[in-house]
Amino acid sequence: MNRTEIYLDHAATTPVDPRVLEAMLPFFTERFGNPSSIYAAGREARAALDQARARIARLLNCQAREIVFTSGGTESDNLAVKGVAFWHLVNGRGRHIVTTAFEHHAVLHSAEYLERFGFHVTDVAPDADGIVQPEAIEAALRPDTILVSVMYANNEIGTIQPIREIAHLCRERGITVHTDAVQAAGTLPLDVEELGVDLLSISAHKFYGPKGVGLLYVRSGTPILWQQHGGAQESNRRAGTENVPGIVGMARALELAYEELDERNAHVQALRDRLIDGILQRIPDSRLNGHRHQRLPNNVNVTFAGVDGETLLLNLDLHGIAASSGSACTTGSTEPSHVLLAIGATPEQARSSVRLTLGKDNTAREIERTLDVLEETVARLRKLAGARSR
Ligand code: PLP
Repeated sequence: MNRTEIYLDHAATTPVDPRVLEAMLPFFTERFGNPSSIYAAGREARAALDQARARIARLLNCQAREIVFTSGGTESDNLAVKGVAFWHLVNGRGRHIVTTAFEHHAVLHSAEYLERFGFHVTDVAPDADGIVQPEAIEAALRPDTILVSVMYANNEIGTIQPIREIAHLCRERGITVHTDAVQAAGTLPLDVEELGVDLLSISAHKFYGPKGVGLLYVRSGTPILWQQHGGAQESNRRAGTENVPGIVGMARALELAYEELDERNAHVQALRDRLIDGILQRIPDSRLNGHRHQRLPNNVNVTFAGVDGETLLLNLDLHGIAASSGSACTTGSTEPSHVLLAIGATPEQARSSVRLTLGKDNTAREIERTLDVLEETVARLRKLAGARSR
């Protein structure tokens, strides 16, 4: 099997930073206690957990008790959407949820599931640049709207959403607002007061932390029915022995990301711009998907007309380059990306698209190599497709 030499799929996942691993390691071995145990080893784990929570709360500008640790972005999104909806099913009358057509499936499928319980869901369309306009959200609101869930940055095209404005118009009306900040965390500001959201999901493996751990920020007083029952962990809000090494790692990873934010963002943005410009200049009939500037500094998503995206990815892989044709969760399915369809791509265009997402350890030389391979491969695949259709 060939090896991945150039990793350009940081939106799918990132490697654990060695400094994060170092912080985690003691909690697998000598400091392995269960934070719910009363003896010294348990208290030690509890202290590490409390400390991690306090450090993360500082970064999010919230209270430590407003953080609920989870198993990752998917669980946080499920908890936010279902938790608020089920609270209203029991206590309120509102049955309407507003989200967008290009959310991650963790939000979209949760909302769809709630339709079985009598909820109505409006999927607001983003514009052709991949931006959800606050006016479009406003127009979708109804007197019985209980929840608005809009992602902070899109995972496929990297476009950054006007969350502050959206949160403001929801809160004016007393509507709970959730943002899936999984792709934004570690890159964009996460101050929940500044953003004005009630609920915010993040996942450690997107910012050089471990997989299988995340959190949901829950503003005090937010109507929510907890979804996981068992022990009294997380103050009776999310049962299950806490993933202590993971949580310690997430806290360290988040701290490092914000300490090094400007440096990391400037580095990936310069590489991203070089990659975008190189593709558009050197490869005919290529098009950038999503707003040119209002996008994550590390995201490139392009359509190469007449080229099958999956075939292109396989060819890139043969050259040791890892990229993606949309979100990893849908790779292997023949369905065109719902994100690209939502911004107006045809199914054929969507199937001719690839996502390249950069990371802090990518180099200029890797980008030049990727451009060479892309130029050569796209030309070859187009020639083959032309020969086949003749
Ligand atoms: N939300 C977004 C925007 C994502 O990009 C992802 C992961 O790809 C998730 C949610 C799910 O996160 P996790 O992999 O931690 O379950």
